[in-house]
Amino acid sequence: MRDTPKDPEPDAVGVAVTLRLGTRRCLVVGDTPFAAATVRRLLQAGARVAMCAASAPSDIGSAERQELVLLGSVFRPEMAADCGLVVAATGDPDGDRQVAEGARRHGVPVHADSDPRRGCVQLAPRLAPAGVSFAVEGVDAPALLDDLSVRLASALPERYGALQEWISEWTPRVEQAVPEPAARRRIWQRLIGGGAGEALLSGRREEADAIVAEALAGGRAPEPGEVYLIGAGPGDPDLLTVRAMRLLRLADVVLYDRLVAPAILELAAPEAELVYVGKRRSHHRVPQEGINDMLVRHAEAGRRVARLKGGDPFIFGRGGEEIDRLTERGVRFEVVPGITAASGCAAYAGIPLTHRDHAQSCVFATGHRRGDGSLSIDFEGLIRPGQTIVFYMGLAGLESLAEGLLRHGMAPDTPAALVQQGTTPNQKVIAGPLSALPEMAARANLRAPTLIIVGEVVRLRERLAWFRPEEGRGGFWSA
Ligand code: SAH
Repeated sequence: MRDTPKDPEPDAVGVAVTLRLGTRRCLVVGDTPFAAATVRRLLQAGARVAMCAASAPSDIGSAERQELVLLGSVFRPEMAADCGLVVAATGDPDGDRQVAEGARRHGVPVHADSDPRRGCVQLAPRLAPAGVSFAVEGVDAPALLDDLSVRLASALPERYGALQEWISEWTPRVEQAVPEPAARRRIWQRLIGGGAGEALLSGRREEADAIVAEALAGGRAPEPGEVYLIGAGPGDPDLLTVRAMRLLRLADVVLYDRLVAPAILELAAPEAELVYVGKRRSHHRVPQEGINDMLVRHAEAGRRVARLKGGDPFIFGRGGEEIDRLTERGVRFEVVPGITAASGCAAYAGIPLTHRDHAQSCVFATGHRRGDGSLSIDFEGLIRPGQTIVFYMGLAGLESLAEGLLRHGMAPDTPAALVQQGTTPNQKVIAGPLSALPEMAARANLRAPTLIIVGEVVRLRERLAWFRPEEGRGGFWSA
């Protein structure tokens, strides 16, 4: 309801409604692109459509064109008689108002495009990729409708349309088994939001069917626990994938690392248990074995566990070890890739990792030192003409890294960069010749995590850097 005291027209109500037009015609008035789009959508939906316009929209097919009744460009109120709906899309508020008055005289609901807030019918027939359309109400700025439909559509998983079909197929049996509407609704919520919905969206239709069949037979739906090994991306929460977000919402338990952005954790269900398994201030961390055990224990207790890792779980993430253990115990799992620090930091620092003229290959290496402080790096293998090198975990050993590269023949003036907390408000980039990087880094007093990029491509940054972090915004990693 948008009926505020200031509202001069008390009948201006905004609610999304569905009209069953049956054999009644829908009249679209106007020559505007919105009129054309509406005609197209209505014809596609199988409606009988008349159009008050000089000519038919140019982009409808010939079969549809035959279905369309053209009434010429002058609107007369009698045209609305016996219609099921009138859409006023003349492109002019006065014109739309006249059409609306004419339609109301015949008691026909009308949607006025120029003032959607005041239309009796809110029609937002924009098609989402999955074949789902939305009607939106209560938006004061009509320009937001376009933006909103893009956001809604992009939040839908690829197979959402399949989910809809699957539900329709099961509906008769579910209605028969559970006649009470509220109970039926609860069952659907549990099935769609839980294992059956997830199985379907992941392309496992048979499993989804088995879960519903079991639920209808009165037994508890056999929903064994499972583990989602999820890459949370490099920092910026917007870099999370749609799939990661969906699975995170489903999880009963979330085990997360230090490098997972705080805002991402807020996406978990409010009742989910959040368990931090990263390094603590005291530098003790839950040992890897302990994490593996926890994953198994929670899953075997029937919970859905999200194991959230920074970046991509399969890139210096020990993801392989964790799921190895799950396979051993027969626990089901999924792996969701994430944007790894190398691509995130490179993109946000304006450093393309490959480039037709400067780099034809790119390697990811770890600069982590062994217990005795030495590096186990095959420098000769890394130094190749036209190859960009990205070092993860390299800040502490930066001096030995640079020294090793130089000793194995890399030119001292090879461009190199250090990216601190890439993609976050705290991102800082330090770039210079490789030989000077350790000293520059020491002076800059950088905070973990940092990534090192070495190669000619670093030079491109001068032209391509675009990201302007707003220092101090958002609670990112402080130490
Ligand atoms: N699985 C992760 C990497 C884990 S190893 C991934 O795919 O990104 C941890 C190392 O990743 C850190 O030492 C650092 O080198 C790098 N790193 C992760 N996030 C980073 C960020 N936002 N900025 C800079 N380096 C980052």
